[in-house]
Amino acid sequence: MITVEKALNIILANSRQLELEKTVILHAKGCVIGENIIAGRNIPPADNSAMDGYALRCADTRGATGKNPLFFKIIEEIPAGKIPRKKLKKGEASRIMTGAVIPDGADAIVRQEDARATGKTLAVHAPVKKNTDIRFAGEDVRKGELVISKGTPLTAAHIGMLASLGKKNVRVHRRPRVAIMATGNELVDIKTEPPPGKIVNSNSYSLAAQVLDCGGIPTIMSITKDRKSALQKKFTSALHHDVIISSGGVSVGDYDLVKDVMKEMGNTMRFWRVAMRPGKPLAFGSIKGVPLFGLPGNPVSSMVSFEQFVRPYLLKIQGHKNIFRRTIKAVSAQQIEKSAGVKHFLRAFVKKTKNSCVASLTGAQGSGILKSMVVANALIVLDAKETKIKKGEKVTVQLLDDSLFKTDSYSSS
Ligand code: AMP
Ligand code: MG
Repeated sequence: MITVEKALNIILANSRQLELEKTVILHAKGCVIGENIIAGRNIPPADNSAMDGYALRCADTRGATGKNPLFFKIIEEIPAGKIPRKKLKKGEASRIMTGAVIPDGADAIVRQEDARATGKTLAVHAPVKKNTDIRFAGEDVRKGELVISKGTPLTAAHIGMLASLGKKNVRVHRRPRVAIMATGNELVDIKTEPPPGKIVNSNSYSLAAQVLDCGGIPTIMSITKDRKSALQKKFTSALHHDVIISSGGVSVGDYDLVKDVMKEMGNTMRFWRVAMRPGKPLAFGSIKGVPLFGLPGNPVSSMVSFEQFVRPYLLKIQGHKNIFRRTIKAVSAQQIEKSAGVKHFLRAFVKKTKNSCVASLTGAQGSGILKSMVVANALIVLDAKETKIKKGEKVTVQLLDDSLFKTDSYSSS
């Protein structure tokens, strides 16, 4: 049996980054970009108006007041998308819309609400300063500028930026194809009403959702019986994936055959059993070069093991640098006792209070109690050597989502 830290080191040391592939930008959200993006054009491409109003020469507005407006001749209308045809001369103005190109000769915009047009005549009631409401060519992005660096995970804003630079495709680390295999004679498919003695395979679904959550492409394979030949066949049929995740059949029971089959198929078994709860009987290795995570069958164990080991692995092979969940300190809402020697991951709900965060257990902690995960937003992580946490004591919690930082009220501060 090895420690969680050692297991994680072995897993990450055995990871190989996935190659780059060209993909349409919309499919690249969340992926890590494998190239530097240098702007091939200015954004915006030309000086343009930030407002609906009138383009004019600011010097001509000097001295304008509400009582004594200054008058301009409107010589042209410039909607967005049209090129101005006329150069402005003294005392002239052009009607202009937001986003339209500034005509030659103009150096300011008077907003529509600060002027009054009657036919072709414009009355301006206040002076405007030079450059008012003009957006300059290249003020967002300058041609030649490095806009997105290689190694950046792409957000919606990056996708928009790529579009505005005219990049339809981008090179990113490709998403891993992940085979998900449930093993167990007691399992039936979700479409079947389970007969006596059987249960529905839920692990494949929670695992597939977890894979999607970290950018992978899951394939749920059909349920495999606890028979060596069946397991061998199923593993063989999954070898075209980047990663295989199985659940169940890795413990010490008579029908726990996954490890044996892994060995018989020439697996390089890196480790079996990790000093943690839930999730002790975890096997990691590879079959014909394809990494294989043999996760335990209990629904909570399978999810928690995925969180600790598979998630960082999948993120790493996609080129992510930040591969671990955020951990914070929280006050334990209750006394917790545990046995020494094994690291614990207890399902908890963490709430913000005025001065700190408080972590409460989400009920019974059995590894078959999936509900404890359903209501959890965090895991309380207790080191192997710890045996007792007093109520009010600080504990480390690993946040499983960002619900702690979400609120129903908007604050601009
Ligand atoms: P095992 O590790 O195969 O001994 O399974 C441990 C427990 O997890 C047993 O109670 C199984 O019935 C349950 N289990 C195993 N695989 C699944 C699955 N895919 N979905 C739901 N429960 C499972
Ligand atoms: Mg089983």
